[in-house]
Amino acid sequence: MSNAATPGWKHAVVTGGAGFVGSHLCAAILDAGTAVTCVDDFSTGRPENISELRDRPGFTLVRANVSERLAVGRPPDLVLHFASPASPADYLRLPLHTMEAGSLGTRNALALAHDAGARFVLASTSEVYGDPQQHPQNERYWGNVNPVGPRSVYDEAKRFGEALTTAEAEAHAVDTAIVRLFNTYGPRMRGHDGRAVPTFVRQALDGEPLTVTGDGLQTRSLCYVDDTVRGILALARDGMRGPVNIGNPTELTMLELARLVIELTGSRSEIHFVERPTDDPAVRCPDITLARDKLQWEPRVSAEEGLRRTIAWFRDHGHD
Ligand code: NAD
Repeated sequence: MSNAATPGWKHAVVTGGAGFVGSHLCAAILDAGTAVTCVDDFSTGRPENISELRDRPGFTLVRANVSERLAVGRPPDLVLHFASPASPADYLRLPLHTMEAGSLGTRNALALAHDAGARFVLASTSEVYGDPQQHPQNERYWGNVNPVGPRSVYDEAKRFGEALTTAEAEAHAVDTAIVRLFNTYGPRMRGHDGRAVPTFVRQALDGEPLTVTGDGLQTRSLCYVDDTVRGILALARDGMRGPVNIGNPTELTMLELARLVIELTGSRSEIHFVERPTDDPAVRCPDITLARDKLQWEPRVSAEEGLRRTIAWFRDHGHD
């Protein structure tokens, strides 16, 4: 990525920068010549995710819970608010922390952007569409979310974060954007974080059965992390408010995904069917017309290629 890709930015703040997506985002911004302050409390992120960044010029780590306070050394031009547990296993374990990251954390990150006159990007999610009754989902769809179901701590926190971001843009003219990420995968996911790709890859590499939930016919669309990061930065640069879907519209059933992982790892694992979690969406597929038309963004990495890279990383780095 060239400097032209980050027009005028001298300093970006990435909350949740030690997480899976956040660490790739920090690296891409540094690569483009912009200094990065990563703010993280390591509640679900790992120090090793940013170990390669810590010695790079321009990288600063602030260990803090963004729901309590968000103070950085010098004013940023860009604030990317990515701090939040994201995998169901994490947000079910940390329900109040998750609700606070979406509410108080978003408020603090917006205040930082407001005070600095910075561009602000909220990491929202396809979960705002719930178990969707429209397929594929475009940004005008309001969603079908159970407000008191187990997933609500995450879904509703993100919906509140979107509302707060919109209110700040209206009330205080903060330059905001909302990106709705669909399932993203790649290196640095945790093998036990409960999401389908790292779970299947870990199980296949360990020769354990791959645990497919329900009948495995529920679909997800999986976007490789490099594509996701490129989409997030395209929105940050563009100045558009959104919300904008960033995801890969190629849909796979969970059964197809499990079979592909077995094939690509060369594993002899079998597939076992287990109970499906409550409120697990039946389908999930982004309509990315807006991102294509306005940001000239679309994914480039196929599921097969992205999975090959992910499997190679898990082989090299272990998969706890
Ligand atoms: P992750 O759990 O790997 O990363 C989240 C990071 O935020 C972690 O480093 C964690 O320690 C940090 N964090 C959590 N609460 C914090 C707090 N209160 N203060 C400071 N740091 C805190 O998850 P991820 O998959 O990288 O997701 C990153 C963001 O992208 C999240 O906001 C998530 O909702 C969003 N998102 C991710 C996906 C995906 O498929 N990965 C899909 C949709 C949305």
